[in-house]
Amino acid sequence: MAGNVWIVAESWKGSISDATYEALALGRELADGLGVRLEAVLLGHGARAAAASLGRADGVLYVDHPALADGVGEETSRALAALAAARGPGLILVPTTNVSWDLLGLLPARLEAPLVNFCREAVVSGGGVEFTSLLYGGKMAATVGAGAGPVVVAVLPGVRPAEAGKGGAAPAVEEVVADFVVGGGVRWLEYEEPEAGDVDITQQDFLVAVGRGISNEANVEVAEELAAALGGAVCGSRPVIDQGWLPLVRQVGKSGATVKPRFYVAAGISGAPEHTEGMKDAELIVAVNMDPSAPIFSVAHYGIVEDATDVLEALAEAVRKRKG
Ligand SMILES: Cc1cc2nc3c(=O)[nH]c(=O)nc-3n(C[C@H](O)[C@H](O)[C@H](O)COP(=O)(O)OP(=O)(O)OC[C@H]3O[C@@H](n4cnc5c(N)ncnc54)[C@H](O)[C@@H]3O)c2cc1C
Repeated sequence: MAGNVWIVAESWKGSISDATYEALALGRELADGLGVRLEAVLLGHGARAAAASLGRADGVLYVDHPALADGVGEETSRALAALAAARGPGLILVPTTNVSWDLLGLLPARLEAPLVNFCREAVVSGGGVEFTSLLYGGKMAATVGAGAGPVVVAVLPGVRPAEAGKGGAAPAVEEVVADFVVGGGVRWLEYEEPEAGDVDITQQDFLVAVGRGISNEANVEVAEELAAALGGAVCGSRPVIDQGWLPLVRQVGKSGATVKPRFYVAAGISGAPEHTEGMKDAELIVAVNMDPSAPIFSVAHYGIVEDATDVLEALAEAVRKRKG
């Protein structure tokens, strides 16, 4: 496969997202295996300083433009397509996040390039790259190859540890001009901060997660008691949030937060891929589910086949006793 490997770096308020470092670590492996350069592409306005932490790349291509300040997919896809047409990368790795979904729809169309979606793994094989894509919400895995570049690859979060994509000396930054037409139909209006005063579940060491299996809102209180005993917080799967039992900022998973606590209790959660994507890297996972074949047990270190509320109550009591 000819052409360099690109990583599209995602930056917000001056910092690079963890998903970018994860994809960068994968990109490093692919570029080394293919014998080409790894280039991070940073788009923004007044965001050049963020490039300094992209040292695992061989260089950074930085495009500065007022239209790129807020990461609107219509504009970023135009800029990236123009840059790719001028430079001819082989692979364009885009970390999959809530922000990049627009970009991932538009960029392959603008480039008339193939998209490898939901990429969980990629290896160099026989001079090309073999990708593993998760289909149907993770129920099936497909191994796919890609022809001549550019190939756009949507890299799932957690593909590599973020730490593996950090480090290295500050890279050479080349400020480049992307010749793109500004003015799509989508305009950035405002950013809504999460509700003030609520807990940031990504910063907790101890998380008690509840799912539909806790049956009703009153049982969230039982989870709160265990979280309080542990010194942590309660979070939940999407149905719990959709029903309004917990605020949106407490959702774990694909359309919520990715958490890596020291201890994660999953109570009454089936373990759908959209949920496990956000918690599978917790240091210690205990799952409680009435169904012994629930998929959550395949990511848990310990499993309890019991009623979730009963177990939460018993655990809270045990922790309180232990702490005196
Ligand atoms: C695009 C997209 C994005 C999504 N994003 C997310 C996301 O960010 N986060 C997320 O969580 N989901 C997300 N989902 C939804 C996801 O697919 C699942 O539907 C969801 O995770 C299921 O939640 P659950 O495990 O609480 O409920 P269920 O799948 O209904 O599981 C309930 C579990 O509770 C068990 N149970 C029942 N009674 C008891 C009891 N008394 N004691 C113990 N166990 C019991 C059952 O055996 C079952 O395993 C997304 C889906 C899509 C399509």
